[in-house]
Amino acid sequence: MGRARVVAPGQQKVPEMRVAASAVKSEIAALDRAVKDTVEELQELRSSAGKKLGDAVGKVFDAQLLIADDQEFLSRVREEITLRKRNAGFVYNLLVHQTTAELRRSPELYMRQMAEEIEGVAHRIMSHLGGGRKKTAVRYREGTIIVARTITPGEVLNYRNLKAVGMVAEEGGPNSHMALIARSLMIPLTVSGNVCDRIPNGSRLIVDGTNGVVILNPTDEEWADYQKKRKRQGPAILSRIKKLTEIPPTTADGVSLQVAANLEFPGPVDDILADHLIPVGLYRTEFLYLEGSDFPDENAQFGYYRRLAEKFSRTSVILRTFDLGSDKVRADSPQAAEANPALGWRGIRPMLEQPETFKRQVRAILRASTLGNLRILLPMISDVSEYKKARRLVSQVMFELRKEKIDFDSDIPVGIMVEVPSAALTADLLASEVDFVSIGTNDLTQYTMSADRNNSRVSGLYNPYHPSVINLIKMTVDACHRHQKPVNICGELAGDLLALPLFIGMGVSSLSMNPVKIFDCCRLVKKIDSRLVKHLVEPVLSSNSAMAVVRKLQNYRNALENK
Ligand code: PEP
Ligand code: MG
Repeated sequence: MGRARVVAPGQQKVPEMRVAASAVKSEIAALDRAVKDTVEELQELRSSAGKKLGDAVGKVFDAQLLIADDQEFLSRVREEITLRKRNAGFVYNLLVHQTTAELRRSPELYMRQMAEEIEGVAHRIMSHLGGGRKKTAVRYREGTIIVARTITPGEVLNYRNLKAVGMVAEEGGPNSHMALIARSLMIPLTVSGNVCDRIPNGSRLIVDGTNGVVILNPTDEEWADYQKKRKRQGPAILSRIKKLTEIPPTTADGVSLQVAANLEFPGPVDDILADHLIPVGLYRTEFLYLEGSDFPDENAQFGYYRRLAEKFSRTSVILRTFDLGSDKVRADSPQAAEANPALGWRGIRPMLEQPETFKRQVRAILRASTLGNLRILLPMISDVSEYKKARRLVSQVMFELRKEKIDFDSDIPVGIMVEVPSAALTADLLASEVDFVSIGTNDLTQYTMSADRNNSRVSGLYNPYHPSVINLIKMTVDACHRHQKPVNICGELAGDLLALPLFIGMGVSSLSMNPVKIFDCCRLVKKIDSRLVKHLVEPVLSSNSAMAVVRKLQNYRNALENK
C-alpha cells in the first residue's frame, strides 16, 4: 500500500528547454561527450566481461556499441538540436522514442527486443548527459511502489534495498525468478498490462499479490479494509514454523517426508529454519552475483558458505552452483543480448566454458564443507556429458586442495537439477552417475510446454499440472528409485498443497519450497496416507489435460478435508 513510482527506462521525461542560438554548439558538444563516455563505458564492460566470461560474451556488447555510436542517428539528433534550438537531452530522447515506439508495435519479438536494447543504451547516454551516472543510491519515499515494464530478479533485490514496499510489472509469470524473489522477500508483486501508461506517477495504489489485484486510487473504505488484511499476513506467516512439533513430518501411516527450504539470500528466516531442523534443499547462489557488482571472490564466497554450513550444521544445505542466464542476468550483463536466452547460455553452460569461475565457487564450497553438511547441485544439466565435465572440474579442485593440504569433505554429494526434458527422458543414465537428483519443475514446465515462464501471454500454457510435465517428473522419480538415489523436488510445485499427495504417492523423499509454504505443507503431510495416495498416481498420469489432473487432485483434497 503506497504511492506509485513509475520506472520505465527510456521513458524518462526530459524537460524541454529552449536554448539560445549561441548555445547550440555547446548542446551538441555535450551530446558528443555523453556518447563518447557511453562508448568508453561499454568498451570497458566488453573487455571486463570478455576477461571474466570469454570473448564470445564480451562481443555481445558489440551490438550496444553500434547503437551508441550510430552516426546516422546522431547526425539527425544534431540537426534537430540546431533546427529546434532545444536541449540535447530532450531532442535525443524524443528521437529515440520515435524509433522505439515503431519497433514496439512490431509483431516480431526480435524487433520488440531491439527496442528494449536501444532504450537501454539511450538510458546510459542520457545519464551521461545529465552529468554522469549517480553514484549515491537514492532512497525512495516511504511506501513507494515500483511500477515498471519489466523487473529483473536483481532489480527486485535492489528496489527492496531502496525500501520499495510493492511492485507492479507489465511482464512476467508467477514462476518467473522476479516473482520467486519477491515471494521470498514477501514483497507484494503483481503483473498487469500497460501499467506504465495507466498508472500516473505518485498515485495511490494497493498491490494485492495474493490475488493478483492492483487498485488504483482506492477509496478510503478499500484502504482501511486492506490495512486490516495486511495485519493478518506479513512476516508472521514464517513464525508459524515454530509451532511445528514434528520435523520431518510423517504421513498418517508413518512414512517420513523431508521438507526443506529454498533460499536465495540471508534473512531472519534462516534462524527459524535452522532452529527447527529444516534443511536448505535449494540455495540459489547466483543471487550473490546478481545482488553484488561482480562474481564474489573465493574468500568472500567461502565466508558466505561457511556461515551457512555452520548455521545449518545440524541438518544440511544444498548449494546450487551459479545458475545464471535467461531472466537471471544483471542489467549490465552481456547475456541480455541473446536472441533466445532461455535456450542459450544459462545454467551449467557458461560455467563449463568459464571453468575458472566455476572452480572458484566449488573451491569455496569445498573449503566450507568441513564445517557442516554441504552438497553441490549443478543447474540445468541437459546431457550426461555436461555432468561428467562439471564433475571432473570438481575432482580437479579436490586434487588441488589436497596438494595444498586444505581440508574438505571428500564425500560431498554432487547432484544435478533435472529441469529440462532431455534430462528427464534420460534420467536413468543420469541417476546412475550422480549422487542425488533435484527436480526443478519451474524450468521443466517451461521447456516441456515451450512456454516462457516469464511471459504472461503464454501463462495459460505454462502449467506444471500438464500431464506431460507430471509424466516427466514420474519418470525421473522412478529412475532415481531404480538407482537408489535420493530425489528431491524443488520447483514451486513442491510447495503446492494440491500436488503434495501425488508426490507422496510417487514416493518422492524430499520437497524443497519457499519457507512460507512449509507450515501448511507439514500439517497436510500428517493427514495423508501414503498407501492410499499411490492409487492417485496412475489416473493422474493418464489424464488428458492439466485441468483433468487438477480436478482429480482437487477431488482427493476435498475427500480428505471432509473426512
Ligand atoms: C526450477 O527450475 O524449478 C528451479 C528450482 O530452479 P529456478 O527456479 O531457480 O530456475
Ligand atoms: Mg531452474
